Amino acid sequence: MKVFTKILLLGIMCVGMVGCSAQKAVVPQETAHNNLTDDAAVTATLEMLETTTVMAANPPLQEKETVGEIETTAEPETTTEAETTTEAETTTEAETTTEAETTTEAENTTEIETTTEPETTAEVLDMSDATSIYATGVVNIRKAPNTSGFIVGQTIKNQELTCIGKVGEWYVVAYNGEKAYVYSSYFKNEPIVTTTQINRDDNPYTYEEMVEAIGVLDAKYDDRFAVEILGQSYDNRDIYLLTLGNPNAAKSVLFTGSIHGAEYITTQLAMAQVEYYLGHMDEIYNGKTIGEILDNVCVYIIPMVNPDSVAISQNGFSAIRDDALREKLYTMEYTDKWSSNARGVDLNRNFPTVGFGKSNESFQVNNGPSYKYYEGEYAGSEIETQYIINFVNSHPTLMAYITYHTKGEVIYWNKGQTGTLYNNTWKLVKLILKLTNYYSADYLQNNSGIDYEWAILEAGLAGCTIEWGDIEAYFPIRQTQWNDIWQRGQYLVVAIADLFEGLTK
Ligand SMILES: [Zn+2]
Repeated sequence: MKVFTKILLLGIMCVGMVGCSAQKAVVPQETAHNNLTDDAAVTATLEMLETTTVMAANPPLQEKETVGEIETTAEPETTTEAETTTEAETTTEAETTTEAETTTEAENTTEIETTTEPETTAEVLDMSDATSIYATGVVNIRKAPNTSGFIVGQTIKNQELTCIGKVGEWYVVAYNGEKAYVYSSYFKNEPIVTTTQINRDDNPYTYEEMVEAIGVLDAKYDDRFAVEILGQSYDNRDIYLLTLGNPNAAKSVLFTGSIHGAEYITTQLAMAQVEYYLGHMDEIYNGKTIGEILDNVCVYIIPMVNPDSVAISQNGFSAIRDDALREKLYTMEYTDKWSSNARGVDLNRNFPTVGFGKSNESFQVNNGPSYKYYEGEYAGSEIETQYIINFVNSHPTLMAYITYHTKGEVIYWNKGQTGTLYNNTWKLVKLILKLTNYYSADYLQNNSGIDYEWAILEAGLAGCTIEWGDIEAYFPIRQTQWNDIWQRGQYLVVAIADLFEGLTK
């Protein structure tokens, strides 16, 4: 089974991982007359200079003048090797003079001259020699094989493109069903696999690191792993869904992290679990391999439900890029305990349950946006909440909903559920207690509009909150607790998946 969902960018075509060695060979001598070789380094620099910010918010895809491209090179956030080339050299470059020569396909010549988006013609792509190539960073995808070519898209690191030929120094790729061009130096035949550094106890785990690690894992593991994006937060950060195991399994369970931003260590835990299981599919757990367990019960993980909140907690209101959102945030009081989304709504009070707006924290409820406890204008008002609700409602195989929080070393689960739902929840909780050595809050929890309350009472799932980390510790939980949390949580996900294989709703 090859589950390889990539919706990170527009229409990526997945083909087998055939080497692109033919195209990668040294450019034949006859192409030298294109005059591209002399300019290649400079051209290459430009290609990277204008695109050095990985996952920059809303990168402009309009056509750019050459001068404009050079001016956009300031502040590369994510360094790649090439962009340090002297900028001054690029200013005298006249790479567009070779357009006619480099364009061996007649139909592209008019495109360059008119500089307008070409109409979708019935161009037949010859896919017979298609191979996969992988971006080494953010690279422009252009309509013509030169740096003036209309930009139709951008890659992210390790993005797979389908290479169908080569023109000078440019690969011809199939992109959204049409021909496009990328500069060959920025592509390799295999994805770049770097260390993800998820399992560590030094620095807090960030949204950007999560995105990077997901890319690395996606490139490394085709089997039993899929990456999707549920949608974007208000400040345009992606909310990822990771699928471990068999998506066609009869049963599934859902784990979520960082619905409260300041609890970002829960994202680190979810990501470390994913990384560990992917690398240990043959390890035996409870008499089965981890792979077999995941084949029987699919595991869904949303490692960071509330990425804007994580960004605010870690970096302050300035982390919010949207001017209107940021201005409104500045009317609120900042704290590194920030748990609400970028609109000051506590997603974990925003779920449409009987308890919506009836939380015990009444000193905050209905008091308007703030760092936590504000439930929102109406139940389910927030887009991040809606992603969760829609996901659960559209996955009828789900058996359980486990949400990671900090802190307190306690499991919350009692929403007054009865019958089989009670029994399944209690089995779930007992297993978690055994693995974590935490304790159970057995008493009936107040109604509150919390996510697991919704999962239990509205969606009919066995549900619980795990509060990771020492209740006496500073909040946000510091990295000094990581090793303890990891020790308790390492096998939690596969253990729960294994449990639900033997349960019915
Ligand atoms: Zn929380």
